[in-house]
Amino acid sequence: MTGVCEKKALLLVDLQNDFMPGGTLAVPNAHEIIVIANQLQFYFDCVAVTQDWHPSDHCSFASNHPGHAVGDRIACDGVTQILWPIHCQQNSWGAQFVSDLILKPGTYIAQKGIDPKIDSYSGFFDAARRRATGLTDYFQQHGSIELYIAGVATDYCVQYTALDACQLGFKTYLIIDACRGIRVFDSMKAVTQMQEAGVILVHSNKIKARRIGR
Ligand SMILES: [Zn+2]
Repeated sequence: MTGVCEKKALLLVDLQNDFMPGGTLAVPNAHEIIVIANQLQFYFDCVAVTQDWHPSDHCSFASNHPGHAVGDRIACDGVTQILWPIHCQQNSWGAQFVSDLILKPGTYIAQKGIDPKIDSYSGFFDAARRRATGLTDYFQQHGSIELYIAGVATDYCVQYTALDACQLGFKTYLIIDACRGIRVFDSMKAVTQMQEAGVILVHSNKIKARRIGR
């Protein structure tokens, strides 16, 4: 371990209690990828994680919009917003990283969705691109040019994060066996869209075999 980030970095998206089975916005089988996430960290010196981190009055919570229900689409501050159950409230159990996830010391945490008026599926920017989370600067400062992305949900935050990573000029890999989506068809569609944008699919076994990042 050099303490200096290699050019390849690992980015784990939203591995938080509320997105796991038993959470308020559970992604089916999401718990299965925690063991892979733990293993993968050994192959990268540079690791960052995103954390959905909403205030209680967040615009994405259906309960904050009387007359609307989970799944409705409404306009929030000029941006179309899908309404979700209350999830990942700041300082709640649901917002905490899964206890089985072992994060290395020095892991960069990018919190997103902190502005009550705007949501953020991407780990890089809010949906209106008004505020950056700091992830771009972090990777650039450490010389990372290739990002390996895993986490949840394939059809939302993973997809938006990977598409932004591509657009920002990072060579972007999706660790396909270390992602889980909310809906199967939407996740397949999301993977296709990511590939069309230049995202490369890779299996975690390949990373471990090549010892990428070292
Ligand atoms: Zn959220």
